[in-house]
Amino acid sequence: QKPQPSDAAIAHSFTPKTIGRLAREVGLFSEEVEPYGTTRAKVRLEALNRLKTQPNGKYLVVTGITPTPLGEGTTTTTLGLAQALGAHLHVNSFACVRQPSRGSNFGVKGGAVGGGYCQVIPMEEVSLHLTSDIQAVMAANSLVVDTINARVLCESTQSDKVIQNIILDQYYLVSLFQNLFQLFFTLFTRKVCGMCAFCYFQAKTCKTALFKILSGYVASEMMAVLALSTSLGDMTRRLARMVVAYSRKGKPVTTEDLGISGVLATLMRDAVKPSLMQTMEGTPVFVHTCPLSDIAQGNSSILADQIALKLVGPEGFVVTEAEGGAELGMEKFFDIKCRSSGLHPDVVVMVASVPALKMHGGGPAVTAGSAMPKEYSAENLTLLENGCNHLKRQLENARAFGLPVVVAINTFSTDTDAELGLVCEQAKLAGALEVVPCSHWAEGGAGAVALGQAVQRAAETPHQMNFLYDLEMPIDDKIRVIAKSMYGADDVELLPQAQKKVALFSKQGLGNLPICMAKTHLSLSHDPERKGVPTGFTLPIRDIHANLGAGFLYPLVGTVSTGAVTHSYELLSVTHMNAELEHDMEY
Ligand code: ADP
Ligand code: MG
Repeated sequence: QKPQPSDAAIAHSFTPKTIGRLAREVGLFSEEVEPYGTTRAKVRLEALNRLKTQPNGKYLVVTGITPTPLGEGTTTTTLGLAQALGAHLHVNSFACVRQPSRGSNFGVKGGAVGGGYCQVIPMEEVSLHLTSDIQAVMAANSLVVDTINARVLCESTQSDKVIQNIILDQYYLVSLFQNLFQLFFTLFTRKVCGMCAFCYFQAKTCKTALFKILSGYVASEMMAVLALSTSLGDMTRRLARMVVAYSRKGKPVTTEDLGISGVLATLMRDAVKPSLMQTMEGTPVFVHTCPLSDIAQGNSSILADQIALKLVGPEGFVVTEAEGGAELGMEKFFDIKCRSSGLHPDVVVMVASVPALKMHGGGPAVTAGSAMPKEYSAENLTLLENGCNHLKRQLENARAFGLPVVVAINTFSTDTDAELGLVCEQAKLAGALEVVPCSHWAEGGAGAVALGQAVQRAAETPHQMNFLYDLEMPIDDKIRVIAKSMYGADDVELLPQAQKKVALFSKQGLGNLPICMAKTHLSLSHDPERKGVPTGFTLPIRDIHANLGAGFLYPLVGTVSTGAVTHSYELLSVTHMNAELEHDMEY
C-alpha cells in the first residue's frame, strides 16, 4: 500500500474556487462580503440581520475522546462530515472551526486545519494571519497593558516607586528576552511552538502580570469575549465590563474605568466578523476565533455558527467542533456557548480512533523521534478493549446533555476489522445511537458518507437538550457537578484561596455565572499522566477567577497541568502581581 502524501502535498494539489463564487454559492450578497485576497473573506454581520426570519439548519457538534499524541482527528472529522454532507449527499452544509493558534502552526501539527483529504485550503492562509483577528486581539491586549503601565507610571506616589521599578525592569528585560528565546527555541529544538512555550518561559521566570497579556491571546479574556459575542454591541459591552486590575482598596477596575473600552471595540470591530474559507471539496467553512479548550471555552465563535445556521437553511447542516475531550470542550460548548447563543444543537458526533483508544487502554507512551511502538501498528484487542472504557466514559458525558450521540471511528491504515468491530460493539453497548467507521482522511468526503447518513437519521430522532447544571446553584456545587459527572472525581477540594473566592463572588452577586474549568485536556482528571478512566481522585481547585467580559467563572484545577496558559489567564487581572508584591496599584 502506497503511503498517503503529506497534508501539505495534498492541500497544494487542490485549487480553491474564488471567494466571490463561494460567497454567491452559500447565498451571501456581495455587499455582505469583504474579500481578503482571492480565497478568503470576512462576512459582515448585516447578513445575520437580513436572514433573521430564516429558520436555522440542523446543528451538529463534533467532540472526541481525550486527546493523545496518536491523533483522534476531531477537526479532520468535522471537515470530512461537512464534505460528505455537502459534496456527496448534496445537502447544504457548513463547517465551523477554530482558527489555529500560532503554537500549532509550525512543525507541531504540520500547519494545516484538518488533515489528509479533509482540509481547509489554502493551508498557508488559514494557518498564518488569516484575516488578522489574532493580531487585533494582541493589539487590544497591548493597549490594556500599556494603559495600566502608563497609569502606574504617572499616578504612583513616592512609596510606589519600588513596585514601579520592578514592573518596568522586568518588562524591558522580558521584551529583550522574548526575541532571543524564540530564536533559540526555533533553532535548537526545531519545534516552534512559539508563543505557548514563550508564555511558559515567562510564567516560570518572571511571575509578573503584565507580559502574559501580550502574548497569551489564545487564553486571553479578549479572545473569549470575541468568541462569545452575539453582535458588535454585545462585544462592546463585554469589553467594557472586563476587569483588568484592582485598585489599592481592592475595587475592580474595568477597561471602561480606564477609558479605553471604546478604543478596544474599535480595534476588534473587524475581528468580530467570521472568516469564510473552503475545504478541498469546495464546502464552505467559517474559521473564527481560537480560545483553547483547557483554559478557555474551547469553541469557535457563536457568530460563525449563527450565520452558518441561517445560510444553510432548514434542510441544511452546520458542523461545529468543540475542542479537546468531551468532558472539557463539549461541556463548555453546552453550558457556556449554547447558554450565550440560545442555540440548541441536534446531534453530538463523538470521534475516536483505534490507536488513541489503545493508549487509553494502557499502551506505551510515544516519544517524538523514536519508532512507533508495535502495539499501535499491529492488532491488540486487549489494549483496545481496555481503552474502550474511556470511550464509554466520554459517551456517558455526551449523553448527559440529552442529545443523540453518533460515534465516528476515524480509521487509521493500521486498524484491523476485528479492532473496528470491537469498538463498534462497545460503543453500541454504551448507548451510541450509531457507530460508523470512516475513511475520510484517506478518501475525503466520500469516506464519511455513511457518517453523514447516520447523522441525518439521528437529527430526525426526538430529542431535548439540557444543561448540566442550573446557574442558580451555589458556585462550589456547580464545580462539584462538573467534577463528579464529567471527570469521574469522587469529590472536589477547594483550597483556601478558592474558598475565599466563592464567598467573595457570591457576595458580589457573581454566583450565577457559568463555570469554565481550567483543567488539563490530556486526562479526564487533573493529572495529565493518567489516561483511560482515572478513579479514586479528589479534584483540587486552587483558585477561582472571574471573567466578567466573557461572563464566566474559571476555577484553576490542580497545579501543574494548566501550566503556561493558565498563568496567562491568572495574570490577566493584575491581582496576582499585586499579591506577590503585597501592594496594590491605585487609580
Ligand atoms: P484534532 O482536531 O483531534 O486535534 P486533527 O484533525 O487536527 O486532530 O488531526 C491531527 C493530525 O492527525 C493531522 O495532521 C492529521 O493529518 C492526522 N490524522 C487525522 N486523521 C488521521 C488518520 N485517520 N490517519 C492518519 N493520520 C490522521
Ligand atoms: Mg482540532
